[in-house]
Amino acid sequence: MPEGHTIHRAALDHARALVGQRVTVSSPQGRFDCTALARKGGVLLEHVEAHGKHLFYVFERGLTVHVHLGLFGRFTVHADALPAPSSSTRMRLKGKAVAIDLVGPTACELVTPEKKAALLGRIGPDPLQQPKAPKAFLDHLAAQKTPIGAVLLDQSVISGVGNVYRAEVLHLLKLHPMTPASSLTRKTGTELWRLVAQLLQRGVTEKRIVTTQGTKIRARTEPVSREGAVHVYGRNACLTCGAPVERLVLNARTAYLCGVCQPLLG
Ligand SMILES: [Zn+2]
Repeated sequence: MPEGHTIHRAALDHARALVGQRVTVSSPQGRFDCTALARKGGVLLEHVEAHGKHLFYVFERGLTVHVHLGLFGRFTVHADALPAPSSSTRMRLKGKAVAIDLVGPTACELVTPEKKAALLGRIGPDPLQQPKAPKAFLDHLAAQKTPIGAVLLDQSVISGVGNVYRAEVLHLLKLHPMTPASSLTRKTGTELWRLVAQLLQRGVTEKRIVTTQGTKIRARTEPVSREGAVHVYGRNACLTCGAPVERLVLNARTAYLCGVCQPLLG
């Protein structure tokens, strides 16, 4: 599943490509009812926003399209010749020089201001918008015995973290995923938030997840686990110490950890 950095990067790229232009919005697949956006000559795109893993395209008169990629959604940007859309293209945004196709999202819908507010109300603070740990996050940790590995994937508590960042952030802080959130000190909670913010921002810049220092990434097509971009996620051996990486299921997703670097304390 795309993590927060992918969504924020898409918001930046799509804004650069299309904001301020009259955009033709269509649904070649037909599963997105965009008739409210039909205008001769296109509808003005005013801005693109990312909140956690949610994207909002805000058009003239407040008309807003909400997109959540889910597990299988993806965008394709066409800057040159525009191919015919495939039968699975849910939405096509066509501007002056660039067109963007969306396939396979969990959500692609027009939302009212009330629906947008309700969606945002369910999403927790986003470290990419708020680099300093919010008090509500630290208070939540202090009050929860839930494993920290579960808390990190709870989008209502902290938004944008997925399975790769979860594994890597906990490894970098030497925390076992089963550590009760309430046992973390406020200092560790603050550091955890700061690290998530820093790594997500690096992901936005580099357009991929890299959590190691001094790593020369050779090819973007190589699986991350083979090239030393991560310490434990998807790996057999811990990049830090070489011990076998352990796996456990937490929130129905596999959590990766090194039992040597991240012992369960207490
Ligand atoms: Zn290790």
